[in-house]
Amino acid sequence: MDIKPRKVVVVGAGAVGCSYVYALMQKGLADEIVLIDTNQDRLEGEVMDLSHGLPFTPPVLIKAGDYDDCRDANLVVITAGAAQQSGQSRLDLVQRNADIVFSICDPIASRTQETVIVIVTNPVDILTYLANRRLQWPRGRIIGSGTVLDTARFRTMLSRHCRVDARNVHAYILGEHGDSEIAAWSMAHIAGINISDYCPQCRRCDYEAAHDRIVEAVRDSAYHIIDYKGATYYGIGLSLVRITEAILRDENSVLTVSAMLEGEYGLTDICLSVPCVIGRNGIAAIIESDLPEKEKRGLYASAVVLREILDQIKT
Ligand code: NAD
Repeated sequence: MDIKPRKVVVVGAGAVGCSYVYALMQKGLADEIVLIDTNQDRLEGEVMDLSHGLPFTPPVLIKAGDYDDCRDANLVVITAGAAQQSGQSRLDLVQRNADIVFSICDPIASRTQETVIVIVTNPVDILTYLANRRLQWPRGRIIGSGTVLDTARFRTMLSRHCRVDARNVHAYILGEHGDSEIAAWSMAHIAGINISDYCPQCRRCDYEAAHDRIVEAVRDSAYHIIDYKGATYYGIGLSLVRITEAILRDENSVLTVSAMLEGEYGLTDICLSVPCVIGRNGIAAIIESDLPEKEKRGLYASAVVLREILDQIKT
């Protein structure tokens, strides 16, 4: 019996793309990983360096490729993009990365209509929306990494604070992957106990003040990391492995990816993060929670921020 190899194409062999591939190759999830980049020297160097670790990982073919490799890919992950230059506005960067993402989506779509595309390049919600509008694929097949990373940061910080294994802490960051994101405290629980019941029982802290500090630390994480070392890449690399695992294994895992909303949470024609069931074809379902008024308002405000940016972009 022929077994179809599980193939992942990564466009953008920069810090994020290569951290992702480095983590992915150690997981044994993919049989073939193809990297594409406009910088051929960097691409060749990264592929050589990564391949030299193969005696220590499950078998996987890692190679430099081109868009023809997308024809039979199960998943294409886009991490290509420009970083903000001094003197460049945020909107200029958005337009520049939008043009880059279009220049990548078009050659993918001319080779396949079957794969799942995960967009990572920032601003991820805006670019996920633009890619969805441009390609018009079935909803859920073009998704953004969204707040999967922010959610991981939230769970990590809650875990440290409450001294409970992060795997037993369930909590979500929703909305924009950015300044307007919100912590959905109403959905947060530890060992099945809602956090609003757990914290008063635990009594180890002034939990209301602690909640605010944790949300602020999650939201400002990227700024702090960029101040310290210039860029963030390991956390997002592992977040992408988690998304990949859900897709390649058809897990139906709940992850806060950036999704095109069509009425869910009262929002339409916008991409932002809400809990989604992720399987082989991307988003299999969107989970709607009856958020309390304060969280609902936060989510709407996040959608407004994104809509204002979208209205200024030329497509
Ligand atoms: P980087 O500069 O290290 O790498 C970007 C790579 O993209 C470079 O190798 C460049 O040659 C390549 N590239 C540029 N244009 C291309 C094109 N048209 N086709 C193919 N390759 C092209 O940057 P990085 O640190 O890897 O970050 C990449 C992106 O990921 C940025 O937009 C960053 O903001 C974003 N990011 C997102 C998250 C998230 O949670 N969504 C987290 C961290 C970083």
